[in-house]
Amino acid sequence: KFDKDFGQHILKNPGISDAIVDKAYLKPTDVVVEVGPGTGNITVRALEKAKKVIAIELDPRMGAEVTKRVQGTPLAKKLEVILGDVIKMPEMPPCDALISNTPYQISSPLIFKMLAMKNPPRVAVLMFQREFAKRLVAKPGDALYSRLSVNVNFWATCKHIMKVGKQNFKPPPKVESDVVRIEPLIGSARPDVAFEEFDGLLRIAFNRKNKTLNAAFAIKEVLAMCERNYKVYCSLNNIPIDESVSAAGTAGAATAEEDAAGGMDVDMEDNEDAEEEEVLGGGGDEMEEDEDEDMPEFFKQKDEEDSAGTKTPARNPKSKVALVVKAKVLKVLANTGLGDKRARQCDQNDFLRLLLAFHEEGIHFS
Ligand code: SAM
Repeated sequence: KFDKDFGQHILKNPGISDAIVDKAYLKPTDVVVEVGPGTGNITVRALEKAKKVIAIELDPRMGAEVTKRVQGTPLAKKLEVILGDVIKMPEMPPCDALISNTPYQISSPLIFKMLAMKNPPRVAVLMFQREFAKRLVAKPGDALYSRLSVNVNFWATCKHIMKVGKQNFKPPPKVESDVVRIEPLIGSARPDVAFEEFDGLLRIAFNRKNKTLNAAFAIKEVLAMCERNYKVYCSLNNIPIDESVSAAGTAGAATAEEDAAGGMDVDMEDNEDAEEEEVLGGGGDEMEEDEDEDMPEFFKQKDEEDSAGTKTPARNPKSKVALVVKAKVLKVLANTGLGDKRARQCDQNDFLRLLLAFHEEGIHFS
């Protein structure tokens, strides 16, 4: 009856549905979005406390179930059911609170979608598989620290609320669950940088989280992307690229010349640190993929290809702009003192400092 492909593990313990809704501290004026109402165990409790619940459900059978459950009661007029995939919606409906016993396949995209909202909800109370929840609260140096952890800590605060055993679900999932409470920073507290920029930098850094940032930025495809974006930035801001080439003809540019000649002095270590990201993939067949599943193809290439650097010449190495961009990148990494650090050791403030330093040089990531 329940479809595992839709991550349908229905809560059968009403105490847990209550606790999830209670931890959102809903006000009678609140609009709540619930992702995946299923048969409506959490939905009815939220309807009792809020002004309105917008329930987004992928499975039309479940959409019909939750509608039927409140039919003929005063709660019915407060419920709006949207049938569809929340991840494919161009935007999540604006809301005060987000609640979900999250289908495990969409844990990561759902969090990213919420954090990227210009006006995110005041609070999100979400249940996840335990391994995923641990990644949300992981700190620099922890094995589970990832691009997801940095984003959550940068755009929000996140607290573990409670553990939920698998026997509380029908059918029981293979792994235990955790409920977390996320409070996105809103209004003037929200960092004044574009989500895509901050996340774009993190994608590069965490592509090789055990390598130094110098090594992460030495990858030719990364430099090619910086170069493309730099050209766009110059053209949008009427900065003549040729002029900036001569303006950048300083010590940094000299390094770039050497570099183009093959003398790149960065920490391109071999694979002695097994990529810790792999740890994340081993959580049983229900564990979702790492959040990097949507990495651009060029980030997914093997390290061996990076160091050999011979597969596909992505650009003309003699291009003046390429040299300037490489010089700028090296300068930022040196001046911030972060080039020798590894992504796994950096906190959200380090990444913000790095991003702002790149922006100063006209280097963007989205
Ligand atoms: N809220 C119910 C409960 O706690 O008993 C059901 C939770 S069940 C873990 C997840 C629900 O999300 C299922 O009803 C499933 O059909 C729905 N779902 C799965 N993927 C979805 C998606 N991409 N967008 C919206 N709903 C989805």
